[in-house]
Order: sequence, then structure tokens, then C-alpha cells
Amino acid sequence: MATQDVLMEPRKRIALVAHDHKKDDMLAWAKYNLDVLQQHALFASGTTGWLLETELDLDIEKLMSGPLGGDQQIGAKIAEGDIDTLIFFWDPLQAQPHDPDVKALLRLATVWNIPVATNRTTADFLISSPLMHSSYSRQLTDYEEYKQRLTHLYGTDTTP
Ligand code: PGA
Repeated sequence: MATQDVLMEPRKRIALVAHDHKKDDMLAWAKYNLDVLQQHALFASGTTGWLLETELDLDIEKLMSGPLGGDQQIGAKIAEGDIDTLIFFWDPLQAQPHDPDVKALLRLATVWNIPVATNRTTADFLISSPLMHSSYSRQLTDYEEYKQRLTHLYGTDTTP
């Protein structure tokens, strides 16, 4: 299948999300990595963002709270090419009312081939990578063929 490259700038656009039982973990991780996080553009689901902003004075674009649509908003930003990295501390021991949104967010991160950390150790490895501070060419599957799949049936360009 054909591929296309998407350039990620040295200043990354990082989305931060933590489920309630993981918020302490997120706060401790963000505090430890404060210097690095301050060098990037930060986005977060509502309550996670509020917590990091209040406790660490981080400049963050806050979206809606996860269960109210925040995860979906972040997913949409990934699909639109506006998020480069996802730090998502989801809770494996607690059922979530917005479980479909959680799954959808993780799925979109994979579709668009962005780096994702779902636990603190991976987040440490990710944030300390030299690639966090340099340009990186992210390879994407070229979805043109997929978008054109109905053209032969309808005889016109069906792409949005
Ligand atoms: P919150 O959402 O940051 O608003 O708590 C996180 C989530 O549950 O997805």
C-alpha cells in the first residue's frame, strides 16, 4: 500500500488524558517532566488539564471532560493532524462510562501513527526521546485509495 509522510515539528503538540485513578500518576509524571513539557504545545481533557494547570501552572488548551466528549475531541484533532503525541493514562481496573470513546481514541492514534504512551514508564521513554525535540517524518498509510473506493460505483469523486 502507498504511504505518505507527515512532518512533525520539533515543538510537538501533546495531548494529555488521565482517568480518575491515574490522575495522581499523571500529575507526578508531569511534575517530573515539567521542563520538557513546557517546551511543547499541550492539550488535555478537561479535568486532567485543569489539574495540571492548577498544580503546575502549565499552559494547556483544555477540551471537554473525557466522559462528556473530551476524548472524542482529542481523537478529532488527531484525525485532523493537530496532535503529534498522546499520553493517555487509562485505568485498566475500572469500567468507564465512556469506554467506546476510550477505544476510539486509541484506535485513531494508531490509524494516524502517532506515538502513544498508556503508562508512566512508556511516557518516560517517550518524553526522553531525542525525537521529541527534532523534526520527524511520520509515515502514514496513504488513504487516497480508500477514499476513492466508491468512485467506480457512483462515477463521481466521492472524497470529502
Ligand atoms: P478528564 O477526562 O480529564 O476530564 O477527567 C479523562 C477521561 O476520563 O477520559
